[in-house]
Amino acid sequence: MTYDVHIIGGGLAGSEAAWQLGRRGFKVRMSEMRGTGERSPAHQTDGLAELVCSNSFRSDDDEKNAVGLLHHEMRRCDSLIMGAAAKAEVPAGSALAVDRDVFSVEVEARLSALPNVEIVRERIDTLPESGLTLVATGPLTAEALASSIGRATGSDSLAFFDAIAPIVYRETIDMDVCWMASRWDKGETKDYINCPMDKQQYLAFHQGLVEGEKTAFKEWEANTPYFDGCMPIEVMAERGVDTLRFGPMKPVGLDNPHWATAEHPNGRWPYAVVQLRQDNKLGTLWNMVGFQTKLKHAEQVRLFRTIPGLEKAEFARLGGLHRNTFLNSPVLLDRQLRLKTAPHIRFAGQITGCEGYVESSAVGLMAGLMTAAELAGREWQAPPRTTALGALLSHITGDAEADSYQPMNVNFGLFPPLHDVKKKQRKEAYTERAKADIGSWLATLTPAA
Ligand SMILES: Cc1cc2nc3c(=O)[nH]c(=O)nc-3n(C[C@H](O)[C@H](O)[C@H](O)COP(=O)(O)OP(=O)(O)OC[C@H]3O[C@@H](n4cnc5c(N)ncnc54)[C@H](O)[C@@H]3O)c2cc1C
Repeated sequence: MTYDVHIIGGGLAGSEAAWQLGRRGFKVRMSEMRGTGERSPAHQTDGLAELVCSNSFRSDDDEKNAVGLLHHEMRRCDSLIMGAAAKAEVPAGSALAVDRDVFSVEVEARLSALPNVEIVRERIDTLPESGLTLVATGPLTAEALASSIGRATGSDSLAFFDAIAPIVYRETIDMDVCWMASRWDKGETKDYINCPMDKQQYLAFHQGLVEGEKTAFKEWEANTPYFDGCMPIEVMAERGVDTLRFGPMKPVGLDNPHWATAEHPNGRWPYAVVQLRQDNKLGTLWNMVGFQTKLKHAEQVRLFRTIPGLEKAEFARLGGLHRNTFLNSPVLLDRQLRLKTAPHIRFAGQITGCEGYVESSAVGLMAGLMTAAELAGREWQAPPRTTALGALLSHITGDAEADSYQPMNVNFGLFPPLHDVKKKQRKEAYTERAKADIGSWLATLTPAA
């Protein structure tokens, strides 16, 4: 069968994209290496859209939760992944959880029922030089293709491991304790939020890092190399009580104006400082510089809330280090997920730097719709940024700060802020606005066949 588009990868993103294109009448070849005798270290089956770890799509609450809202929006787009999840659902309170085998079989059955979608069990080793292509090979992209992508993107724009530092919502940082400054007041602007510690606070914090519960690397991640600047903060702490004070927590050049005295009118250097840097152009998300960590999530929340100024911190993302192949998408991809240097190639799924089953499927859905518009000769209109789909897409394709780009879940920090709404009602206000705005966008999509 000649085909209109070649999708590489039959995981969550690839399957969703094939569905969106196939049901619009376009001919799709989807290449999946599992079933050829080859699998990534995390995959256990040859089934399409295998859930490699938890069986949860997280919260299904589309009123107060960003991922629940994403479920809602994907359902409005007749999502394959959401449809199969409904069929395979198992009880899980307010979360959407599934029987992973029933789910995978349902995905494959629905896709195989589309006459113009051909599922071919083959491994693709190089990026095609021509022809509309959608690469959705995931965080464990097979080596040969990963190298081919590295050659096309430049090796420093393709990561094989993530080193994720926690991200804090700006509005939950106490600026009566913290202050804005750049070290030695360099530059025009005060670019960092600084959290001051005195000696007692620092020693207690250091002990907490060393003693805190950590998650272990998976067997096949065992050789995860610690790159310079990506060493877990707790590993640095174990190297000596002062290692951090000469590293990510060094106080030099940071006068704390809250500690100003007659003797020190500009304030004094604290004993140690935790710095946060802006993580997105909206300024709603700030990442803890140098705090990539393997501490368990609950430990991170407990310990990082002992940092002065972060006592009430709410985290849009927590830290982690994993084997994870992903692109520096804000640099490499245009607003339609196309490689700027080879626009016949689109990327989708976790390889674009989104994080999670739902986010990967959602990016696959949008990549499928973009490709359908291109094939139909229609103008692609991006979903409004006030929607979960639009907020996620904007973040990946340009709103994120490229130099600190790390995988991101969908969260309300990616949405244009709503300042004139009380904090308690804010989440509902975000979802109400999104639901009001998505209708007009749905009308712009290439209709199904
Ligand atoms: C170990 C691990 C655990 C995770 N746990 C969770 C979790 O609990 N919850 C969560 O929300 N997210 C989790 N994720 C993150 C992420 O959501 C999943 O990886 C998700 O499956 C990503 O979807 P995807 O479609 O981008 O990639 P995948 O679902 O991985 O699909 C990519 C597909 O491409 C195929 N492929 C790869 N290379 C080639 C090639 N060269 N030629 C042909 N086919 C190829 C693969 O076999 C695979 O089927 C986890 C990731 C990892 C690595």
